[in-house]
Amino acid sequence: MYQTLYRKYRPRFFRDVVGQEHVTETLKAAIREKRVPHAFLFSGPRGTGKTTTARILAKAISCERPVDGEPCGECSTCRRIEAWETMDILELDAASHRGIDEIRELKETLYLRPSTLPKKVYIIDEVHMLTPEAANALLKSLEEPPEHVLFVLATTDPEKVPLTLRSRLMHFAFRPVPPAATAARLEYVAREEGLELRPEARDLIASLAAGGLRDALALLDMAAAFAQGGPIEADHVRELAGTLSEQEGKELLAAVLEGELAALFARLEKLERQGKTAEQIVTYLLRLVKDILAHNLSSVEGSASKSEAAPFSRKPADPATLLTLAERLVQLLPSLRGSPYPFLVLQVRLLALAETLRSSSSAALPERRPSPSAGMAEGGKAGTSTDGGTSSASNVSGDGGGKVLPEGRKVSGNARKAGRVSPPGGTSGERTFLRESEDAEGLARLRESWKEVIEEVKRLSVRTSSWLKGGYPVWVGERSVVLAFRYPIHRKMVGEAEHREHILKVLRSFLGRPVEFVALEEGEWEKLREVDPVDLAVRLVGEDRVEVIEDEPDEA
Ligand SMILES: [Zn+2]
Repeated sequence: MYQTLYRKYRPRFFRDVVGQEHVTETLKAAIREKRVPHAFLFSGPRGTGKTTTARILAKAISCERPVDGEPCGECSTCRRIEAWETMDILELDAASHRGIDEIRELKETLYLRPSTLPKKVYIIDEVHMLTPEAANALLKSLEEPPEHVLFVLATTDPEKVPLTLRSRLMHFAFRPVPPAATAARLEYVAREEGLELRPEARDLIASLAAGGLRDALALLDMAAAFAQGGPIEADHVRELAGTLSEQEGKELLAAVLEGELAALFARLEKLERQGKTAEQIVTYLLRLVKDILAHNLSSVEGSASKSEAAPFSRKPADPATLLTLAERLVQLLPSLRGSPYPFLVLQVRLLALAETLRSSSSAALPERRPSPSAGMAEGGKAGTSTDGGTSSASNVSGDGGGKVLPEGRKVSGNARKAGRVSPPGGTSGERTFLRESEDAEGLARLRESWKEVIEEVKRLSVRTSSWLKGGYPVWVGERSVVLAFRYPIHRKMVGEAEHREHILKVLRSFLGRPVEFVALEEGEWEKLREVDPVDLAVRLVGEDRVEVIEDEPDEA
């Protein structure tokens, strides 16, 4: 009978549990000193070894000849437990048995002496799923348990375990298994199984598993089957890991539609880290857009409210915008296939697309306002547009998005122009990036004070400042700051939520306005800046949206 790798390599001893030494060492010490509490709470992400450790603990307290807190694995008791031949270890999955009746049943067995082991061990998984009555019934058992009983409650969500319950338990927090430890375990299992696992495939599995060893081994299992005896390649893993989760897809689409550049950038980076390919992302977005369109159409016909049907709370996704988006995504596919840097192309194009949607949405404002200059200064986000339909449509495909002047190097016809920051030296040499005016003076100030900025960040977090040190400001606009980083790891780390928050706080207070920042690798920035602005605009938003106007001689 085929045994899954996860089962086959399930740790039998504390020393084999990967990445949870802070738990296993403490448990071993308690067993050595014979001071084992009667009730534990094991919390932590799925697949990190909570129930496995519970079973090892049951074995260790029952073992006839424990060695340094570890079960011996050889005595008849150890063997009986490993062969699942004892009635004294009871496992209950609270996710599927969450009611009061199950807990009552369990309590009835509580006072019966164990049949073969010194103690009865109750392992209750996903304990936070118990109903309040069931949790309350369990609490009474925990308050005064019989001497011969050991409880191990496990949960992925300790915050949801009632405090009254938690306070009776000795709490151990399992951590996500570090990628390096996961990779080492994969390497070990592959060697034992005679599988040829390529390093890129191994690292990709470790990163996809996101700290869950069970998921990592399941993925290795599938990849091995997929490779059919040949070497396991990263492509096999990608194929299996498949596409985006529904949640990831919706968040990404929302960021595009609402023009949330920073959020979009962060989400794309996360997907890249997970090993998703640019093509998978675009294909998924297309399918999602198609589903929403179909859903909207059917609910319109069924006379239901359109905004109810839309998956986004802030903005009803209007059909015209969605169609434009779908069209752009279709155009994007061939350029991904032809590019040596498909992910970079995807990032830049999606950012530009998001920016286009945001611009065209705010450009629609004057149509509803008698005075075109009123209320255009700043802050026109796509999310504030509530008219789903024709006005956005005409602006997305029309000329509302701006014209590029090659000589003066500025974008006109953009509603947001009114709010741009004018550099003190006038507008000559002004460059635009993602349809935003440059703040050359701001950049100069930021560069000059970069050390102080880092010091300021350091006051908030030493770790954040150490990542930020790897970068420097290369561009400042009204709403964005572009930072270039020499090493990918620094660029990635500053994108993590906690670091990003610290950096934004300092940048915003320094510049005195609500900017976002975009982190690029030096190479990416070089690629973006070296192209001619017209060329860049064409590349970013597509030829049909860029209109080149000859500069008038008398314009400053
Ligand atoms: Zn033993």
